[in-house]
Amino acid sequence: MLKVNNIDVYYGNIHALKDVSLEVNEGEIVTLIGANGAGKSTLLKTLSGLLKPKSGHILYQTQQIVGKPAQTIVKSGISHVPEGRRVFSNMSVEENLELGAFLRKDRENIKKDLDYVYELFPILDERRKQLSGTLSGGEQQMLAMGRALMARPKLLLMDEPSMGLAPLIVKKIFEIIQTVNKEGTTVLLVEQNANMALSIADRAYVLETGKIVLSGSAKELQESDKVKEAYLGGA
Ligand code: ATP
Repeated sequence: MLKVNNIDVYYGNIHALKDVSLEVNEGEIVTLIGANGAGKSTLLKTLSGLLKPKSGHILYQTQQIVGKPAQTIVKSGISHVPEGRRVFSNMSVEENLELGAFLRKDRENIKKDLDYVYELFPILDERRKQLSGTLSGGEQQMLAMGRALMARPKLLLMDEPSMGLAPLIVKKIFEIIQTVNKEGTTVLLVEQNANMALSIADRAYVLETGKIVLSGSAKELQESDKVKEAYLGGA
């Protein structure tokens, strides 16, 4: 479904991604783990068209997407849930969700998808009219995810959904990622919380200072000494 081939991304003269290649197959949950500053967010921003690689290719369903505008990429089925949620604070929950569908014209289905999101996140249903800036961190994460789902993505890019949230809320959000995946959405999940990410993923990549240093099935990585030591809090 997605094939990233040898991309290099720079911020000025900072070389943030170095010859990165990875693959996501349809139906999978793939996780990209790595420490602060490893380049995880940079990779997601490059996939969704916010950053342009200096070299390399990104194939999405056989189309080359490097250089395409972010809007075109969303339309083709890739939605990004950014780090730090970024909901529109002065707008209600429902308005935020509707914005997620702004590129769509199929009114009838948009209504259905809104109901679907409320079913997934009953708390958002209760808070439809509430200003998003007054939601808790966990609720904002759910809203950001709901908003991305309103674009009917085939591939959902999630940037550190666990950040700053209590373990119980993280568990809930990860359960919903699994549900959405079972219902047909492919997921690329970026996480510092390697433990949680590997527990739901099919496959994983480890990114260190802009380079992929390890990859394999989630199970293999959970058992790898290097991953245990560096990312799972010791062997
Ligand atoms: P975090 O979890 O802390 O967000 P990350 O793995 O997502 O980490 P990135 O945000 O992708 O890391 O950052 C990768 C590298 O690029 C870091 O060294 C960072 O300082 C640098 N970087 C990120 N954004 C910019 C920017 N806008 N301008 C310059 N350098 C940047």
